[in-house]
Amino acid sequence: MTLSGTVDENSDLETPFAKLNGDLVINMKDVERVNSMGVHLWIPVMARLSAKHRVVVEEISYAFVFNANAVANLFGAARVVSCGAPYYCAACKDHVMVKVTADEVAASGGAPPSKRCPKCTAALEFDELDGYFSFFKNRSQS
Ligand SMILES: [Zn+2]
Repeated sequence: MTLSGTVDENSDLETPFAKLNGDLVINMKDVERVNSMGVHLWIPVMARLSAKHRVVVEEISYAFVFNANAVANLFGAARVVSCGAPYYCAACKDHVMVKVTADEVAASGGAPPSKRCPKCTAALEFDELDGYFSFFKNRSQS
């Protein structure tokens, strides 16, 4: 399933998850915004869901990465396998969101993996603070 839009106090998080059975893959690429009320609602839903099902979360968005770094239990027992990460292409003078997997971050020792521009294939520069990927590491230790 794919989530999109905004997670806030008006989000209905119960209904979409209520009838689910078995393993679950949640793609969160299109969740653009999340506020503190949204996080507050999100945590118990995800905790319950990941206790009952095997849950894999893919491509958490920029907004969710910041919350994942701040809130240790944001995804309960779910496995987060990838996220969107901001990179900059000096050749295109353009900012691009690139999918980065937990395996790639582990392989580069927690540093931003090297990525190529999807438009011109030039090497991209990572465009965020060093701790951006730390939620991958924090999670695998817990
Ligand atoms: Zn480029």
